[in-house]
Amino acid sequence: MRLGIISALAEEQQGLVEAMRGPATLIHGKRAYTLGQLWEIDAVCVLSRIGKVAAAMTATTLVEKFGVTHILFTGVAGAGDKTVQVGDIVVAEALVQHDLDASPLFPRFEVPLTGLSHFQPDPQLSMRLSRAAHDFLEQDFLDAVGEGERRAFGLLQPRVHRGLVASGDQFMTDRAHLAGLNAALPGLVAVEMEGAAVAQVCHELGVPCAVIRTISDNANENAAIDFMRFVKSVAAQYAFHITRRVCRDLGTSVR
Ligand code: SAH
Repeated sequence: MRLGIISALAEEQQGLVEAMRGPATLIHGKRAYTLGQLWEIDAVCVLSRIGKVAAAMTATTLVEKFGVTHILFTGVAGAGDKTVQVGDIVVAEALVQHDLDASPLFPRFEVPLTGLSHFQPDPQLSMRLSRAAHDFLEQDFLDAVGEGERRAFGLLQPRVHRGLVASGDQFMTDRAHLAGLNAALPGLVAVEMEGAAVAQVCHELGVPCAVIRTISDNANENAAIDFMRFVKSVAAQYAFHITRRVCRDLGTSVR
């Protein structure tokens, strides 16, 4: 197995390249792909930058040029439902492009000429991710995230959710827009800007993928306040420890 690990922002993947053994970086299509051994797993780490096109190109390149067999997207997202809170973790059970609308020619959200609106990530890889997320919260969280940050962001009892993740080329800051999406997309747990693009590429290329997101904001008018502070001081820790746990888990099972 060779695992491709994508994030949009550098902080969402902080420390991973440094943790690699024998890293080698290759620039392709204006992105840096770093290959190496990550906790016994053969891995390729890359930053896609933000948005669906950027993510789709990166996922395609990982498969076609770097021969990855699995893709993991790790990053942050806005909460897609009132039950989901800042500091919670979301593992995608399905992904949809919320800004795709070719109606009335095709149903809203459907990717024209595929008959599909929802793309499913790999159940096994997603299960490993949820397990890693639970173990992170139970065993690493208190040490990984300082008390000051926990208090500043009100992180009392973070939880793991499985559900629908909606992606679009929009940083969501409008609660009325979010309420509309929530009504149109049952089971919505998070909104972000890349996951469904990666899921479509992986579906079309026949490569298993999984998407995990730390909730950074409530996708309303306050979404941008403290966004970067959260990503740097909280989400970066989540991503590092959860990825470490997943790679170790995969490493013991493929050997
Ligand atoms: N202010 C940032 C921009 C981040 S865009 C900057 O200047 O760099 C937000 C990123 O986090 C995207 O990659 C997206 O996937 C995710 N995200 C977090 N909260 C989001 C929200 N409310 N709406 C859409 N995407 C969100």
